[in-house]
Amino acid sequence: MTDFWRHKPLFSLSPDEWEALCDGCGRCCLNKLEDVDSGEVYYTNIACHLLDITACRCRDYARRAEQVAECLVLARDQPAAFDDLPSTCAYRLLLEGRPLPEWHPLISGDPESVHAAGMSVRDKVVSEAYIHPSQFPEHIITWVMPGRRLSEGLLQEKEEAGAMIPPYSGADPKKE
Ligand code: SF4
Ligand code: SF4
Repeated sequence: MTDFWRHKPLFSLSPDEWEALCDGCGRCCLNKLEDVDSGEVYYTNIACHLLDITACRCRDYARRAEQVAECLVLARDQPAAFDDLPSTCAYRLLLEGRPLPEWHPLISGDPESVHAAGMSVRDKVVSEAYIHPSQFPEHIITWVMPGRRLSEGLLQEKEEAGAMIPPYSGADPKKE
């Protein structure tokens, strides 16, 4: 099935389909800061030290969870990880009942389209290896935004009902 993401529930995807759903943007590999008072989350342009900033791929994907404790390893039994995905992430879009954007490689047929559309972190970020933690607040960005929280209850509801979460009313990712 060439357009599997339109017909299969997220948690029914095969391992290959699951990996193909990632658009390769690298946005989830950016460091985030949380306001302890408001709970607001802000992305920075500081990337995980394992991210290849040009390829926008993890240098040790198979062992990422062992290498980086904060790495978002998406799994059916880890619903909290989905809460931290950026607003444009393909896994989040499907959970929110939204279509994949035209720049997604599954739609365009071109793995470079995510970069050409300016949606990836390529050439826009710096490795955390070069930034002191005290400087992180100076690196807050607005071109990557968090999405709404996808609580465990919503994920369970979706899984049980085999249906989509009600349509998201936020920004169109193609306009970000
Ligand atoms: S934000 Fe989502 S689509 Fe982009 S690299 Fe991370 S998991 Fe893949
Ligand atoms: S360890 Fe996780 S956060 Fe770091 S580059 Fe790899 S996938 Fe991204």
